[in-house]
Amino acid sequence: MNTQLLNPNEIETAAAIIKSGGLVGIPTETVYGLGANGLNPLAVRSIFQAKGRPQDNPLILHIPDASWLETYCEDIPESAWRLARRFWPGPLTMILRCKERSPEELEALKNGPVCSLTHFGSRIIPDVVTAGLDTVGMRCPAHSMCRDIIAAAGVPVAAPSGNTSGRPSPTTAQHMLDDMDGKIDAILDGGDCQVGVESTIVDLTCRPPRLLRPGGIPLEELLDLLPDIELDPAVVRQMAEGEKPRAPGMKYRHYAPRAPVTVVKGPPVRSAEYILDHLTDSSWEGVICFNEFAHWYPGYLVEQLGGAVDTWEQARRLFRALRAMDEAGVKHIWAQCPDDTGMGLAVVNRLSKASGFHIVDA
Ligand code: AMP
Ligand code: MG
Repeated sequence: MNTQLLNPNEIETAAAIIKSGGLVGIPTETVYGLGANGLNPLAVRSIFQAKGRPQDNPLILHIPDASWLETYCEDIPESAWRLARRFWPGPLTMILRCKERSPEELEALKNGPVCSLTHFGSRIIPDVVTAGLDTVGMRCPAHSMCRDIIAAAGVPVAAPSGNTSGRPSPTTAQHMLDDMDGKIDAILDGGDCQVGVESTIVDLTCRPPRLLRPGGIPLEELLDLLPDIELDPAVVRQMAEGEKPRAPGMKYRHYAPRAPVTVVKGPPVRSAEYILDHLTDSSWEGVICFNEFAHWYPGYLVEQLGGAVDTWEQARRLFRALRAMDEAGVKHIWAQCPDDTGMGLAVVNRLSKASGFHIVDA
C-alpha cells in the first residue's frame, strides 16, 4: 500500500478515506492518531493490525463537539457536561457508559447477514472499539484540522496513537510515517503536536471518579471540578502479574525506545550529577536531560527535554527525544525526570513506562 502524505488543504480527502473504511493518520494537539470510522468494525480491526495492538486494549472515540455524546453514551453524569464545557475541545478523554442498541436494532442485526451481531455487538459502538467493555472513551480534540476531518466524515473517529504498539507515540507526521509507511492509506500533516503527550483519561462511570492516565490536562486543573477524583494505581506503579488496571492499555510496556532506559529522579542538580557519575562510554550511551545540564555531557548524544521546571516543554519534547535516541542507535538511555506536579505527572508516567519502571533515586 502506498501511504499518501496529505496537506492541510486535503481535509476532504482524509474524510473520504475514513468514510470508505480506510485508515488515516490524523493530527491532534496531543499526538498523531491512527483514525478509522468508529462505527465500522472492519475498519477498526485494521487499526489493530497496522499497529500490532493487543485486541483487549480499547480505542478512544473522537467527536467534533460535545453534542455528539448523547448519540453514543447513556447515563451521562452532570460532571461530564461541566468537564466538556471547561476542557473541550482539548486533551481530556472521558470514560462514559456506552449506549445499548434498541430491541428493534438488535432484532435487525440478528436477522441480518451472518455474523452481523458478532461484528457489531449489542451496543451502538462496535465491540472492537471498546474491547467489549460497556464503557467508551470519548474525546473532542483541540486541533481544528482533526475536528474538521471528523465533521466532514460525519462519523465518530476511533483513534489510538499512531505509533507501532509499544513504541514512543508520534508527535510529527514524519514520525508517524516512520512507523506506518505502507500500512495505512494516508497521513494528514497538521504540523508538530503542541501538547506532545496523550490525553488525560478520567473514568466517570465509577464513584469517586478516577484518573486512569495523566496527560494534557493536569490533575490540579481537574480537582477544581472533580474534588474527590482518585489516582488509579496503574498511573504510578507497575501492575503486578494478573492485576487488572481500569484502562486496559496501562498494563502494557509502552512509549519505549529500542534501547533500555534508566530514569533518574530527584532534584535536577542531583539527578544530573548521578548521571554524570554513572556514564561509562559515549559510543553507546545517550542522555535525555534538562536544558540547563546539556553541556555537562560532552561527547555523549544529548537530547534536551526543556528547562528543569518547564514541564509543558518537557511533555512536548519527550517522545521526540526517545525517538532521536533510537535513530542514533544508542544502547542505553539515561533520562532526567521532573517531579510529579502539573504536567510533570504525565512526563513521569511516560518515562516510567518507557523504562519498564526502571527508576533510580539520585
Ligand atoms: P491510546 O489511544 O494509544 O492513547 O490508548 C487509549 C487508552 O485509553 C488505552 O490506555 C486504553 O486502555 C484507554 N481506554 C480506552 N477506552 C477505555 C475504556 N472504555 N475504559 C478504560 N480505558 C479505556
Ligand atoms: Mg498509544
